[in-house]
Amino acid sequence: MRKQYEDSYQHKGLRRQLVNLLREKGITDEAVLESINAIPRHFFLDSAFDKIAYEDRAFPIEAGQTISQPYTVAYQTQLLRVNKMDKVLEIGTGSMYQSTVLAEMGARVFTIERQKTLYDQHSKFVFRNKYPNIRFFFGDGFEGLPAFQPFDKVLITAAAPFIPPKLMEQLKPGGLMVLPVDDGDAQRMLRLTKKEDGTWTEEAFEQFSFVPMLTGKNR
Ligand code: SAH
Repeated sequence: MRKQYEDSYQHKGLRRQLVNLLREKGITDEAVLESINAIPRHFFLDSAFDKIAYEDRAFPIEAGQTISQPYTVAYQTQLLRVNKMDKVLEIGTGSMYQSTVLAEMGARVFTIERQKTLYDQHSKFVFRNKYPNIRFFFGDGFEGLPAFQPFDKVLITAAAPFIPPKLMEQLKPGGLMVLPVDDGDAQRMLRLTKKEDGTWTEEAFEQFSFVPMLTGKNR
């Protein structure tokens, strides 16, 4: 984790350029773009990445994981159609960047991470007071959070080998799940809409490349 947190004019300028790029790439949800414009992405990376934090790229974080590419974060968040006060379950806290993007949009975020070293960083989260609407959990995302169900939305930020049945159970009827599902070399982004009878409809979008969603916890 970095030691200094300064959001300079230069960082803000680079962030505005990133937002313009995301717009050019087809992101249209203004609330998503505003959220990305508001959050200093470089705070979520080692200081070594300061100059390149606003390139539209994924970067390595601890425990061999990655902070997702801004386009991917924007794309998934847009598909999720986030409303203020939505209860959102996120699988794969990672750097906490995606959680913060959701929280900035006014969602109530429940995020699960299976890597202890990454989970432990939440105690030093620089935005602890600004985003009391994020709750952090150490656990296996395949299990979801039965005690906090049902959720309005579920977002998986790792490559799921299949649609996790327990997460579908914990979704409200009418709720949405956005997830990248394994499709050979890459993953197909899916949006599932849960119906009253517990079944769902499926929409398929672009292909992406995520780190794998793994079972169990890693202490
Ligand atoms: N949303 C993150 C993306 C991190 S990459 C961000 O904005 O930075 C995906 C993360 O999912 C990794 O940190 C990985 O450890 C985690 N992950 C993989 N399988 C998981 C599981 N079953 N439960 C919880 N987290 C998982």
